Amino acid sequence: MNGGLRVAIDGPMGAGKGTVARLVACRLGYRYVDTGAMYRAVAWKALREGVDLEDPRAVEEVARAARIRLEPNPEGMRVWCDGEDVTEAIRSAQVSAAVARVAANPGVRALLTEQQREMARGGGVVMEGRDIGTVVLPDAEVKVFLEASLEERARRRYAELRARGEAVSLDQVRELVRRDDEVARTRITAPLRRAQDAVLVDTTGRTPEEVAEEIVRLVEARVGVR
Ligand code: C5P
Repeated sequence: MNGGLRVAIDGPMGAGKGTVARLVACRLGYRYVDTGAMYRAVAWKALREGVDLEDPRAVEEVARAARIRLEPNPEGMRVWCDGEDVTEAIRSAQVSAAVARVAANPGVRALLTEQQREMARGGGVVMEGRDIGTVVLPDAEVKVFLEASLEERARRRYAELRARGEAVSLDQVRELVRRDDEVARTRITAPLRRAQDAVLVDTTGRTPEEVAEEIVRLVEARVGVR
């Protein structure tokens, strides 16, 4: 591991993982990996192919065939699936409503977990998701679990979707966030939970810059003790 540390950032929907992880990666000159985008790409492909989401084998086959590529760029990251740019498409309300079921599929998780470990090989990576500190990179040098109140997480997600032109109400988004939490926390494979050795950071009422600064300090402290 000579290219830097592995930083695992987990937490529920709307806790601020994406923005914070991007800032941390930028500050450290590390690669940013959004693992949720990979689950979204599989959900997008399954919807596009009209695959029955209740058929676990069929969804797993979709994941196996999908060629997902995350390409860092100055605004964050572009997401490619089978040679198509799906960066915007994977953020739609339709994909958001379907993805929790896809992410609960153990076969899909095994395939994507393998790819994520490969991406972290060599270090110098900030990887964000739900199970990075617990399952994907249990030996990551720095682990952070972000939290925020349900109301604040719903407001953040609502603002994102509205900015993208989605016609959703705050009530609908609050329900989506609550449901996603429930599915992610109660699923059998890789449930969302804080790793014992993860630092808990509550982002309620704090700016992404403040939270990123705190994480950068954790990384620097860790580099200091190596
Ligand atoms: O973070 P984001 O909302 O893009 O995640 C999309 C979906 O993938 C969510 O349902 C989330 O619970 C799931 N996910 C997961 N494991 C990860 C990352 C995301 O189950 N490592």
